[in-house]
Amino acid sequence: MTRNHLSELTIHEAGERLAAGEFTAVELTEAVIDRIVAVDNDVKAYLTLTPEKALAQAAAADRARRAGRADGESGPLLGIPLAIKDVLCTKGIPTTCGSRILEGFIPPYDATVIVRLKEAGAILLGKTNTDEFAMGSSTENSAYFTTHNPWDLTRVPGGSSGGSAAAVAADECLGALGTDTGGSVRQPAGLCGVVGLKPTYGRVSRYGLIAYASSLDQAGVLTKDVKDAAILLQAIAGHDPCDSTSMDVETPDYLTALDGGVGGVRVGVPREYFVDGMQPEVEAAVRAAVDLLAGLGAEVREVSLPHTEYALPVYYLIAPAEASANLARYDGVRYGLRVDGGGLIDTYKATRGEGFGPEVKRRIMLGTYALSAGYYDAYYLKAQKARTLIRGDFDRAFEQVDVILAPTSPTTAFRIGEKADDPLQMYLMDIFTLSMNLAGTCGLSLPRGFDGAGLHIGLQVMGPAVGEGQVLRVAHAYEQATDWHTQKPPLHEERV
Ligand code: GLN
Repeated sequence: MTRNHLSELTIHEAGERLAAGEFTAVELTEAVIDRIVAVDNDVKAYLTLTPEKALAQAAAADRARRAGRADGESGPLLGIPLAIKDVLCTKGIPTTCGSRILEGFIPPYDATVIVRLKEAGAILLGKTNTDEFAMGSSTENSAYFTTHNPWDLTRVPGGSSGGSAAAVAADECLGALGTDTGGSVRQPAGLCGVVGLKPTYGRVSRYGLIAYASSLDQAGVLTKDVKDAAILLQAIAGHDPCDSTSMDVETPDYLTALDGGVGGVRVGVPREYFVDGMQPEVEAAVRAAVDLLAGLGAEVREVSLPHTEYALPVYYLIAPAEASANLARYDGVRYGLRVDGGGLIDTYKATRGEGFGPEVKRRIMLGTYALSAGYYDAYYLKAQKARTLIRGDFDRAFEQVDVILAPTSPTTAFRIGEKADDPLQMYLMDIFTLSMNLAGTCGLSLPRGFDGAGLHIGLQVMGPAVGEGQVLRVAHAYEQATDWHTQKPPLHEERV
């Protein structure tokens, strides 16, 4: 098998073959770096690459494996090269959040999820592109450049974790971390034809995840198949005393949760998620997936999430309100960019004026407005009340069903530039994902085949709080019955 082929492996395939001694972590990492060199000029998934550090970690993983062989101890991530969204702090490695305002910022510590990956022996290849401060659905809001969809380089990869999704789809890593505040793991996973899992709020530590909207943010995983999502989630999930919102509950064994099929599993189809204006091929594909699961023994029933229509306005009040507070810390004094304006206040203004891009400024203004004295009750407080109703919808639905199936996004990947000047059209890309962040529940997107233009359609499997096990099980059953996840983008034929 050539080096290029090594980069195509899933985490579990590579893990088995590393354990069998077929190749070393250094060889695997070299193969993935070769792949990045071959395709990333076109895909532009990475903001920062750290090949020397990655190769040193790989050599250490190989030593650990040789030492561990005697007592049989090597976890599934030992020697596995991964990519990290550039909103997660990495000690000694630039972390920009896709923003000029954090240019030159080098975190003095690792996010807890990074600590856990390192402890598991994973190799970190670099940091992936994102919409500025994770605000966006296409990576076009990155201050640096736009990432391209590996399936069609003229199209967006989705966002905001578009760099991570594209890197996984283009075999520029074996798996990746992203973050999801309103859909930013699931939506790019759907548009790039990979698996993306957003865990329950609190399931994974947010310590070192640079805050966008703290009551909604959650780190998640992007992988080539469902089993890999279980492996990566297992590594990063669990209580963290450094994050007071992380859940103090035991983490189940997600790998054993994969098996068992869907016989007798109750699958809900929400009436409100098949709306006018969505791409007809997306609706047909999701309905066909429901039929397939029914054929495998799932009990399908319609459910209602009656407050769905409020999710978008509620999200676009709460998320900017929290962002306006969280982003107050970028003042030109403590981190990254400083533009000297003469005095202190003018330095704040000059730094923030130059350092933030237009979408971030829009959100700060929206959020500040919604929180301001005369408007708080009318906007922020009302949004919080509506959020409670949305959460109640999910509570009631999950009394009747184990999982809910829906499209991940209303359309497949759009062209770069197509929605860039129309924020509302861009916001609508998250119509099916952001309710779950408001409710704090979990969900996963997996490949559900192609539209007429050869672009991936994402199938979303939503679960209740701490329902990752049942979500993974249903997704795995669907994946085992189909072969969408084994398809590779045309980039491969052109480049290999
Ligand atoms: N697209 C949504 C937004 O711009 C969601 C982003 C995210 O999940 N980080 O807020």
